Amino acid sequence: MSENTSTLENPDQPTAAPEDADPNEVLFTDFNLDGRVLAALTDVGYEKPSPIQAATIPLLLEGRDVVGLAQTGTGKTAAFAIPALSRMAELPATKSTQILVLAPTRELALQVAEAFSSYAAHMDNFTVLPVYGGSPYGPQLNGLRRGAQVVVGTPGRVIDHIEKGSLDLSQLQYMVLDEADEMLRMGFADEVDQILSRTPAEKQVALFSATMPPAIRKIAKKYLNNPAEISVKSKTSTGSNIRQRYVQVMGAHKVDALTRILEVEQYEGVLTFVRTKIATEELADKLKARGYRAAAINGDIPQAQRERTIEALRDGKIDVLVATDVAARGLDVERITHVVNYDIPHDTESYVHRIGRTGRAGRTGDAILFMTPREKYLLRAIEKATRQNVELMNLPSVDVVNNNRLQKFSERITQTMESEDLSIFRDLVEKYEADHSVTAVEIAAALAVMAQGGQKLLMEELPQAPAKQARLAKGDRDGFSSRGPTRTLTEGNATYRIAVGRRHRVMPGSIVGAIANEGGLTSSQIGGIDIRADHSLVELPADLSKDQWRALSKTRIGGELIQLELDKGRKPRSEGGGGGGGFKKDFKKREGFKKDFKKGDSYGARKPRHQS
Ligand code: ADP
Ligand code: MG
Repeated sequence: MSENTSTLENPDQPTAAPEDADPNEVLFTDFNLDGRVLAALTDVGYEKPSPIQAATIPLLLEGRDVVGLAQTGTGKTAAFAIPALSRMAELPATKSTQILVLAPTRELALQVAEAFSSYAAHMDNFTVLPVYGGSPYGPQLNGLRRGAQVVVGTPGRVIDHIEKGSLDLSQLQYMVLDEADEMLRMGFADEVDQILSRTPAEKQVALFSATMPPAIRKIAKKYLNNPAEISVKSKTSTGSNIRQRYVQVMGAHKVDALTRILEVEQYEGVLTFVRTKIATEELADKLKARGYRAAAINGDIPQAQRERTIEALRDGKIDVLVATDVAARGLDVERITHVVNYDIPHDTESYVHRIGRTGRAGRTGDAILFMTPREKYLLRAIEKATRQNVELMNLPSVDVVNNNRLQKFSERITQTMESEDLSIFRDLVEKYEADHSVTAVEIAAALAVMAQGGQKLLMEELPQAPAKQARLAKGDRDGFSSRGPTRTLTEGNATYRIAVGRRHRVMPGSIVGAIANEGGLTSSQIGGIDIRADHSLVELPADLSKDQWRALSKTRIGGELIQLELDKGRKPRSEGGGGGGGFKKDFKKREGFKKDFKKGDSYGARKPRHQS
């Protein structure tokens, strides 16, 4: 089977097609699934089966052997787990092992076990046990002794347990070879063969794989009984008018990452995709709380209301729409400049559909994908499907965000002066100036604070992952702060000196802004900034071009020529007096932050790091 929806559908297609518009649409409720399994699917928030699930679940429920081929990330786990659990649920309760899944790695075994547990959440006295090599036998033996209806294991360790007599497969009903191609690539052919030959003849077998090399065909022929072969192919391409980027970010930091991106990207309408209906509401609420004009659409929201929401997006009454795949199908709103894949889509086909919601009517569009390091393997598949590069995007730094906020604030002042009648307030300010003998600047500053209505204008610090905070704190104790900034330079960067410092009232934001604009650098190329009394040190690429040098030598900040030069290792001056620590600390934070990104680490990943 292959999904025959084309990629960029009719540009003249009307607004969001309602999901009930497609009579061929399959829902989980269309299958004869056990009620407890269905309830669990509602809990995890899956809206509808993925193509491989839609094709294989009915066959597996019937008891057929199945070979399921679909690329990574298409939901193959649920394709075999849901029917397996549903069938078990109908059998008399037992403690013996009924389902055995073989997976190539410990990581995958754990993932599959986790998925099984979540789909079995409503089944009482039901145990899913992962068994894998490289960890002590004790807990696994105990688990097996207590009884586990589902065992998910790596082939080597499963054989060990069979041989030890700790894994009894005599009651096995259902056997799955998951990621079969990977299992063979890892050299488990013999083990898989052995395990299969030691299982009861009467059982159902499912084999899932991304590809079908001859070795797998051989296994399928030998151990599967007249299997149905299901292959879900994706045939997709995207318009090259869409720029694709990805950001590495862990779940807990996604909201922050999104708002930071929204602070600096030039957007009109943003369509943000999440995986579940609940998540649409949750994210829209969080964005609203942060001052964005956001709304959610999902399959539970009545059609009429969904249409009103889409109309509001079209009219510019809202800017950020948070949607599920189903609710956003066919959405055609020219104003969508950005598609954010907040949750990674479950196949490349959905990805292509999602990003096709921008770049409409001959315009260009931006697609931004959030992914965890675990999901990074999906990038290649996406690049292949879209025949286009997906660039790494660094999250905008605090300085860049703040620079932007200052600029926007200034713009608001200009606009107000141009469009509003100021006379009453002008009189008030004049009177206040005379009565209190303060300058108009001070009054304006006070009014600006009032205009902010209690909100801080500038972002203060980078949200740090706990691990990172600990590391920074450790750095302090290690005397990190006494080292010159060059000690922690990112590879390929150098430290430059500019002739403006605290005396000139420069802020990191104005330095980033000036250097980025004049030197044609991206903000991500600008590293740590250390503002000192009468000069500052800035980390920039070591290989600035002649043009960049020329442009930067003419650059002014606050009216002063910056006189860019390479810092020749002058001893950092001792700052003396008070107030010196703030920026230094700031520098260090930037430094740590950027270094992490440069290394391709993820924002917030808890990864042990060498202490330099
Ligand atoms: P594969 O084994 O094909 O690489 P997985 O089974 O690991 O893919 O699924 C990829 C992701 O898709 C998982 O995070 C899973 O929770 C999610 N997923 C699976 N089925 C659905 C569905 N019907 N709706 C939404 N998300 C799903
Ligand atoms: Mg899988």
